[in-house]
Amino acid sequence: MKAAVVPAMSSSWQIKDVPQPQPGPGQVLVKMRASGICYTDVHETLGHIPGPFPRILGHEPVGEIVAVAPDVTTRKVGDRVGTAWIQSTCGRCEWCQRGRRMFCPYLKSTGLEAQGGHAEYMPMNADATYLIPDKVSYEQAAPIFCAVTPSIAGSAGPIPSRTSAWPCSASAALGTWQCNTRKLQASRPSPFRTPPIKTR
Ligand SMILES: [Zn+2]
Ligand SMILES: [Zn+2]
Repeated sequence: MKAAVVPAMSSSWQIKDVPQPQPGPGQVLVKMRASGICYTDVHETLGHIPGPFPRILGHEPVGEIVAVAPDVTTRKVGDRVGTAWIQSTCGRCEWCQRGRRMFCPYLKSTGLEAQGGHAEYMPMNADATYLIPDKVSYEQAAPIFCAVTPSIAGSAGPIPSRTSAWPCSASAALGTWQCNTRKLQASRPSPFRTPPIKTR
């Protein structure tokens, strides 16, 4: 399959032929229909976010399931899905126990330790996928997945110091999401009208 590969830190993206992944245990294989890009892609390209190179980025991926592992029962071929930042965590450390999985030292995140969506196909952990309603287009759905994890992080209390290694802060990513949402809101006339205020 073709994929946009970042060969090394601060290098240019290259379109390369790479082996097509197959779904491992607990995974589905998704044919990509849209893969959003935001400034986090720049941070990841420059190595500001730790992790291995070469990388296939893309943390806002959506598409259609084309294969499922034999042990997956919650998803089926043809489902429209997307996935967010977290592919898997250990489930045992303090952060996981406190419900703040994004800070797990064993975190496998989309586009870093796990392949991202800037490719023709992407394996996703079935438990990390979200179904997309039919009336929402892939292009509309993709950027929303950027905000899922930071939104959860932001609602879970103060961000610990470990996030100094995570330049895409909760507020920045959430702001991007809010910005996109406002663009959508601004693109159509509001049906609501402010009623006149009665004064004495
Ligand atoms: Zn953990
Ligand atoms: Zn993003």
